[in-house]
Amino acid sequence: MPPVKKHMQASLERTGKDYREVHEWIDDPENKNERHDFTRVLEFAKMFTDKYGEEAAQEYVYHLSDDLKGKFGHVLEDTESSVNSALTYFGSFNR
Ligand SMILES: [Zn+2]
Repeated sequence: MPPVKKHMQASLERTGKDYREVHEWIDDPENKNERHDFTRVLEFAKMFTDKYGEEAAQEYVYHLSDDLKGKFGHVLEDTESSVNSALTYFGSFNR
């Protein structure tokens, strides 16, 4: 998962604000799992909307999405490589 600084940079590029409070809250080491829980997205998005406005809530969602891409990006690359390798091995690649 990208570090807080990367999330802040992404927010800055999207909105002109780094939303440090949002990203630090989400990645708080003591509460990290709970705060990345997709089943609580409505609850936390409302909290950010009430506290900092709708744009902050959107940046919270982007944070989760970017973490997800970070976590599974390698899995997808590895899987694609394994599939291509197996297809090549069995002579079935591009048929
Ligand atoms: Zn995170």
